Amino acid sequence: MTVSTTRRNFLKTAAVSSAALGGMGLMASAEAAPLPLPKKWDMTADLVVGGSGIAGMSAAVTAIDLGASVIVLEKNKNYGGAARINGGIIALRDDTPEDLYKHLTNPKSNEYRKNDPALVRKYSKMCYPTRKWLEDHGVKFLNTSTKAGQYDSQHHESYLHIYSEGMDPDIGGIHPQRTGGYRTGRGIMMPFKDYFEGKGGKILLEHKLTDVYRDAKGRVVGARVQTPKGVINVRAKKGVVLAGGSWKANKELRVISDPRITPEIVPTGYPYIDPDGSAILAGLKVGGMFVGDRGEDTPRMRRMFGTNRYGFQKGSVYGCPGVSGIKGPRWSDVMFVNKNGDRFVKELDKGDLGGYSFYDMAYVQPEKIVWCVFDDASAKKYRWDTSYPTCEKGYAADGATLEELAQKIGAPNLPASVAKYNKFVDQKKDEDFDKPENLLTKKIEQGPFHAVRIVLMVHNFTGGLRINDNSQVIDIFGKVIPGLYAAGETAGGLYVGNGMPRGIMPGRWAGEHAIKG
Ligand SMILES: Cc1cc2nc3c(=O)[nH]c(=O)nc-3n(C[C@H](O)[C@H](O)[C@H](O)COP(=O)(O)OP(=O)(O)OC[C@H]3O[C@@H](n4cnc5c(N)ncnc54)[C@H](O)[C@@H]3O)c2cc1C
Repeated sequence: MTVSTTRRNFLKTAAVSSAALGGMGLMASAEAAPLPLPKKWDMTADLVVGGSGIAGMSAAVTAIDLGASVIVLEKNKNYGGAARINGGIIALRDDTPEDLYKHLTNPKSNEYRKNDPALVRKYSKMCYPTRKWLEDHGVKFLNTSTKAGQYDSQHHESYLHIYSEGMDPDIGGIHPQRTGGYRTGRGIMMPFKDYFEGKGGKILLEHKLTDVYRDAKGRVVGARVQTPKGVINVRAKKGVVLAGGSWKANKELRVISDPRITPEIVPTGYPYIDPDGSAILAGLKVGGMFVGDRGEDTPRMRRMFGTNRYGFQKGSVYGCPGVSGIKGPRWSDVMFVNKNGDRFVKELDKGDLGGYSFYDMAYVQPEKIVWCVFDDASAKKYRWDTSYPTCEKGYAADGATLEELAQKIGAPNLPASVAKYNKFVDQKKDEDFDKPENLLTKKIEQGPFHAVRIVLMVHNFTGGLRINDNSQVIDIFGKVIPGLYAAGETAGGLYVGNGMPRGIMPGRWAGEHAIKG
């Protein structure tokens, strides 16, 4: 790849990028010109990494293994990003690289067809051996994993489960196992931290990378960092890796991939993680290119029943689990209504309901408020507990009669909607939304009646900075920005079923390329 070598080109690049963003109303207060280099550097390392999530730490560990000095900047008070609280399910497939490549570029797959083939090619080769790389860095796996070719209903992938011995004192228990220990990505992040710090790496909490500096030749040479004590400048001799996650918590920027993701949509993992898009913005401000979303709902969106928290189990300080287990035949026992109590969609656990999804329908409901309604027979059968703390206050209600429930949730049309739904069950035909006959089997008739809020959530974003297969950031003219890397949810063009491998592989490419060239 050629590089913009003149300052004129460089200024042009940054100015065009900023102007483009400004035109979209995204950067009201952003500088239109590149930052002048600081008069002095407060710290120096070979590699400076913005973000201590799995992508950033994969870059950091790789670089430190190559003998480099590395500083990791972390904007939060907590280390580890989403992987520290996640489900610990990791799609490190043991297919052949060729089969995996075909799978991840399948033109018939909604999820994968927009992947960048060059990134998938390199990813596919590295995928399975990465298990050993993780083990070499202290990670352990549970023996509950599926084999290639078996499919998990959520991720449609074969996957391994990461083991963590202890409960996290900052977060609480995540997925306790009957055999002891926990299943959580913490089982990667904590060994990474120990390993990295053991080799002299530095992780600076409450240090937010806000900008990167480019020198007169256009090379990225450092980062501007906001700390509780003011701004500092950190020099990067070999590169800066942007690994601050996505912008799913940035209510202004995230509409770039879908204007329907309005402020009431909750980001998963919040408030433990707060991906505000600052790392992506830092790349855009120096001319980086944004490569878009898959435009596909199901993996990007999640829904939770009875809670506005996702990913935190019982015993966690961050939330409560809500009503779980509404799947399979249980869809026959529930009815979805909107804020007014009107039914608006068939109740079915399928991404594609016939050219549209549950989310397409939910987005257009008043205030995006959605309730799941069921009767006491179903609540008892499936042990759906609507009381606090299983459900959050305000996210569930009970009524001796449907009228009482309707009044409690402020949904006046609920009794009439239930009566209509029960008629559809009697006649085995849903005239309004075509719920399949095999799920149209249970009337909502035995009080007390229950309602739990279905909270709409935004989960994985696939849009981010455009990178090549060394994780170098590409500018809006298609050229590499020398010294600048992006990985994980900060980078676009690579979606692989779940988030951790998407961080690990490009993180490793960045760490290796920055140090070895
Ligand atoms: C609840 C939940 C469950 C999940 N379950 C799974 C699962 O089971 N398996 C799986 O593979 N994936 C799962 N995922 C997805 C996966 O965890 C993420 O895709 C992945 O961890 C993202 O890693 P990342 O390093 O790109 O970003 P993040 O994890 O978001 O890390 C970015 C880090 O950078 C910090 N940061 C942000 N901006 C800056 C800045 N400007 N300067 C300095 N620091 C900054 C952030 O605070 C954060 O710590 C889950 C996600 C969530 C939220």
